[in-house]
Amino acid sequence: MGVGGLLAVLLVGACHVSGLAGRPSAGDEPIIDAHVHTRFDGRPERSSGIPYTRQELLRQMRAAGVVAAIAHTDEDGGGYVDMAADCVLHCAGIGARVDVARVEEGLRQGQYRCIKIYLGYVHQFAYDPAYEPAYQLAERYDVPVVFHTGDTYSHRAKLKYADPLTVDEVAVDHPRVRFVLAHAGTPWFQSAAEVAYKNPNVYLDGSALVIGRLHEISRSELDSYLVRPLAWVFGYLEDPSKLLYGSDWPLVDMAAYAAAFRRAIPKEHWRAVLHDNAARLFRIDAPGQAPANCTPSKTKVGVRRTE
Ligand SMILES: [Zn+2]
Repeated sequence: MGVGGLLAVLLVGACHVSGLAGRPSAGDEPIIDAHVHTRFDGRPERSSGIPYTRQELLRQMRAAGVVAAIAHTDEDGGGYVDMAADCVLHCAGIGARVDVARVEEGLRQGQYRCIKIYLGYVHQFAYDPAYEPAYQLAERYDVPVVFHTGDTYSHRAKLKYADPLTVDEVAVDHPRVRFVLAHAGTPWFQSAAEVAYKNPNVYLDGSALVIGRLHEISRSELDSYLVRPLAWVFGYLEDPSKLLYGSDWPLVDMAAYAAAFRRAIPKEHWRAVLHDNAARLFRIDAPGQAPANCTPSKTKVGVRRTE
């Protein structure tokens, strides 16, 4: 490299031409949805009534100003649909045993950008030795591990395994792995917030605190079970980089859920919580890590001094 301290400012994501890109129609800052699913079966989702189709996901993303999303595959990797061109990127879902070959191949090829562990649905604690290969892969490929935490959508699940407090163990033992507690541990917000507050490598997504037809739920109920818990968690964290917007689509309407987030979070932190934190955590803003149209705004990602 040359001498003389040349300053190179990298600008990425300046392109906003195709598909989802373009300014968000809601007129707000661009959003990244850190938690969706793509097991499209074509039917209305049982609690929200939202058609579970690729077209509906893309329509809702456009309507809500969502420029990128992180989708979680099933425990066996099912539900994967290549939507990278639409800025929908996937976590590798894993079950009781880690299929190291499948997950590693997906990570190597860029098919997977993170790993999802279904605590509670799978009757194993986060610190079960069976998950150790997943943490090693996460460290080697520098991708986050997302845990389901809190209430489950299935009566077959066992809640003790989904207690967010149990993630403290692996967060301490794997300081170089970044962990996300999905659903902020609902309704164990205090445990989830404390684990994220105390561990520099733990983050929360605020998805699915309330699910179903949000427009049919009264404002006071949404305040009690969605807005106030989110506001409390955000305040407790004392770090605006620790909370991520996520919906758990198709369980809720993305735009309605984002509106609730905006009521919970002070305006000066909307950009961080609704976009920047996920961009950084899932490397959507890093050069070469995601299609350029996933981040429509100019994002300054680094200043490199060559000498
Ligand atoms: Zn989910």
